[in-house]
Parts: sequence; C-alpha cells; structure tokens
Amino acid sequence: MALRGLSTCEVCQAQGHTTVSSVPGVAMSIARCADCLNAGAIPMVVAVANTACVGGLEQATDWWEEIVEDTLLHLGLSRDQFDLLVEEEIEAEIAYGAEAETQ
Ligand SMILES: [Zn+2]
Repeated sequence: MALRGLSTCEVCQAQGHTTVSSVPGVAMSIARCADCLNAGAIPMVVAVANTACVGGLEQATDWWEEIVEDTLLHLGLSRDQFDLLVEEEIEAEIAYGAEAETQ
C-alpha cells in the first residue's frame, strides 16, 4: 500500500508530492518523491546503518547491494564515499558498545 501526500522526500529532501512506501528488508516506511521512488533510492542514513550492521557491502546480499548502488547512482555518490561512511558507522558502533560495557 502506498500513501500519497505533500511532504519532504526522505531521500533527496525535496519538498512536494511524495509516496510513502516500505524499504525492502528494513522495517520502516519512508516518504519519497517520484524521482527517488522510481530510482529505487533509499535514505543514505538507512543505507549506511543497515550496511554497517552486516559489516560492509561486501558481506551484504546481492539485492541489498543493488538497492545501495541504485541509491548512490541516484544521489551522485561514489562507492568509495559510501564505504567510508559505513566504516565510520561501524567504528561508532564499536565505540558505543565499548562505552556501554563500562557502565
Ligand atoms: Zn527525492
């Protein structure tokens, strides 16, 4: 099911008509403009966090890698830029885990 309305696209931040639909493999729904929806792009924060959870795009399933590649292409970001963001996210999660253990 898709809900349509006026809001901010959660992928490219454009204001206007959006469609709310699910992100494959992730338990969340997002508002996307027609361009981002047609491109199959998802919010970068979701792409980075979900990829960090599996330890990087090399460890991800083929269909997730495809979603990430479609997102990078649509937003004009390189794979290197993405891998760097994922590395930072993994390091932040490790630091958070270490901090939680000391409390
Ligand atoms: Zn958009």
